[in-house]
Amino acid sequence: MASITLASLTKRFGDLTAVATLDLEIRDKEFVALLGPSGCGKTTTMNMIAGIETPSEGQILFDGRDMRTVPANRRKVGFVFQNYAIFTHLSVRENLAFGLKVRGVPRAEVAQRVAAMAQLMRLEDRIDWPTAKLSVNELQKVAIGRSAITEPEIFLLDEPLSNLDAAFRAFMRTELKHLQHQFQQTMVYVTHDQIEAMSLADRIAVMDLGVLQQYGSPIEVYNEPRNVFVANFMGSPSMNLVPCRLTGGDGSYALDFGEGGSAAVEDGALKRRCDAARDAGVIFGARPEDLEIEPTGHTGPGIEATVTFVEPIGPRTIVHLAAGERRMKIAEGKQYGIELGARVKAVLPPGKCHLFDAETGEALGRA
Ligand code: ATP
Repeated sequence: MASITLASLTKRFGDLTAVATLDLEIRDKEFVALLGPSGCGKTTTMNMIAGIETPSEGQILFDGRDMRTVPANRRKVGFVFQNYAIFTHLSVRENLAFGLKVRGVPRAEVAQRVAAMAQLMRLEDRIDWPTAKLSVNELQKVAIGRSAITEPEIFLLDEPLSNLDAAFRAFMRTELKHLQHQFQQTMVYVTHDQIEAMSLADRIAVMDLGVLQQYGSPIEVYNEPRNVFVANFMGSPSMNLVPCRLTGGDGSYALDFGEGGSAAVEDGALKRRCDAARDAGVIFGARPEDLEIEPTGHTGPGIEATVTFVEPIGPRTIVHLAAGERRMKIAEGKQYGIELGARVKAVLPPGKCHLFDAETGEALGRA
């Protein structure tokens, strides 16, 4: 068992608050990603869990036990950093065996566990190589294997894949997921890469400027972002966020997009979001893959715009649109030809429109 509770966890460096009153519940065997841009406090949070940094305020509990007086080396956590910390004077086998040997594990068992880990990490043919001869990708596999082999109940990984090339990153994502299933560990994973977080984590904690923005399953965070920051950070291309004015009232609304025209609100879910608005200034949100271009056969209220750029990306096409100052992207899930300068309408997708308060950035009428 290894659940982690962060209660009002705060870390200050002088005047800077790196982590602000963070409350987070990480269940036993859960895979949680701490996600956010550089400087948002992910590593500081991780270091406090590991016992490397001391919190300014708040508590860290493992299975309900306060960790305040438990030093890093007695917290039974495994830690993998972005810059693989391995012993370069030792072979792959010696690196993998290191943690087991210092724990006094019998030799036969060390040999058997090292062989199993080398197989899991697909390092069998490198097992007697000096680590100095390994590629960056292989070094990081050794670093992960070396920490995982001791089977810590809590495994902390800080951007472990960010130095690796793209193809290998995708491969390692799958391997990490297998590793977690095999060892049934509680994993906390720091990343600034939303794709990595979405593909790996059971739940994602999105952070900005030391403050938790949203905590939920990848689908929840993607489909129901709590605010403009999360809406913008999740997804590539990111959600279209189009400032507009809400007109009408009493359940009969329209969104005025200025040069993009006015779109009647016909969809029930969007109406509910309009009901929650306290002001006419709102931000309309729609994911590029949800917006449809009217000439493709989709009709209904939408935003009138001009095609400014077309990006053919293999099976998909990203169409850039402008309606005066307002910019949008539509991701067509097919190869699609359209002229630059063409006038189109971006049809509001029923059930998939978001609305945010223009002043606070908070989502309106979330389900
Ligand atoms: P990155 O991905 O760039 O590492 P991060 O989200 O992990 O970013 P942190 O490294 O936790 O962010 O840093 C949060 C803030 O705290 C940053 O503004 C950083 O400059 C600051 N900070 C971190 N460690 C220290 C320190 N030891 N002394 C002073 N400021 C620090």
